[in-house]
Amino acid sequence: MDSPAFIYGLYRSELEAWLKERGEPGFRAKQIWEWLYRNPVADWEQMRNLPKGLRGALEDAFVLMPLTEVEVSSSNTGTRKILSRLRDGELIEEVLIPAEERRTVCVSSQVGCMFGCVFCASGQNGVKRNLVAGEIVGEFLAAQRVYGQRVTNVVFMGIGEPFDNYDEVLRAIRILNDPDGIGLGARRITISTCGVIPGIERLAKEGLQVELSVSLHAPSDPVRDALMPVNATWAIDELLACCERYTRETKRIITFEYTMIRDVNDTERDCRELVARLSRFPCRVNLIPLSEIDEYEGKTSHRETVEHFVGELEKTGINTTVRWSKGIDVNAACGQLRSRHETV
Ligand code: SAH
Repeated sequence: MDSPAFIYGLYRSELEAWLKERGEPGFRAKQIWEWLYRNPVADWEQMRNLPKGLRGALEDAFVLMPLTEVEVSSSNTGTRKILSRLRDGELIEEVLIPAEERRTVCVSSQVGCMFGCVFCASGQNGVKRNLVAGEIVGEFLAAQRVYGQRVTNVVFMGIGEPFDNYDEVLRAIRILNDPDGIGLGARRITISTCGVIPGIERLAKEGLQVELSVSLHAPSDPVRDALMPVNATWAIDELLACCERYTRETKRIITFEYTMIRDVNDTERDCRELVARLSRFPCRVNLIPLSEIDEYEGKTSHRETVEHFVGELEKTGINTTVRWSKGIDVNAACGQLRSRHETV
């Protein structure tokens, strides 16, 4: 099935071209853009300053709302999770993470995921389809509806592998970026990849100031092979060489994500190897104590182990943060809410 034409998937220049073809005056694009991004409405009817004929034509050509919220769950840490239904009935989720001045939304890029990292709930049933840009922008707007305020940061760390859906993810980023629309700065957008080298190489050439995170999760091939099937395609040496090139070419610092799993990737040897590998070029590390899921028997690392990793990495000058899991009580680990809904 072809996906419908979501108006939220258009660049402003594309809407302008469509209007021009219909002989509409130039200022209509500005009016429509305001109804989409400044003062979003749920219905074409509500775009009051547009002539009826134009509203009808828009309705015939485009779909306005790409998704609807099914459930919003909150945790006592302030994290909230939105489960949304897409037009074809598929479910996706996003997580709202408020922190001080920031209101971050963690968005999905696909329905499911084909990469099958063993500790991740999103990839247990493979990938069903890619999201299109209009749906991703729709996630952002749903987050603003639920926050009731402007969202300040977007991270592609929900369900899916953004670089397995490169074109639509980049289109969504450019739409979020548009100063006439949402106007979210590229530096406030983070793409997280499990290590899809062709995607990293393409991104290096885009000239965008987006942040890049790479899910490393292991310092050596045997450990990474056991956790991430993607390592069979792009192994650590090749991946890190690519990251080093990216850093050199773009002058942008990559953050390596490292999910910490007790006795699996948190041994003293893992720590030494990680420090040795990452001290060769400037980078940051984000340690994520495993959020335990039913589908995987691994346990989260002890706090002292996490702190030991922080100490050793920092000693080498690698800026390290820890994402102490927020919102475990709302099943905030990737894919958990969606999988719960699918099994009921
Ligand atoms: N596919 C992308 C983005 C989605 S996952 C990627 O792999 O980077 C976002 C981050 O959450 C990744 O670093 C992922 O490995 C991590 N993650 C997934 N499941 C987790 C779990 N159960 N506990 C802790 N981190 C998890």
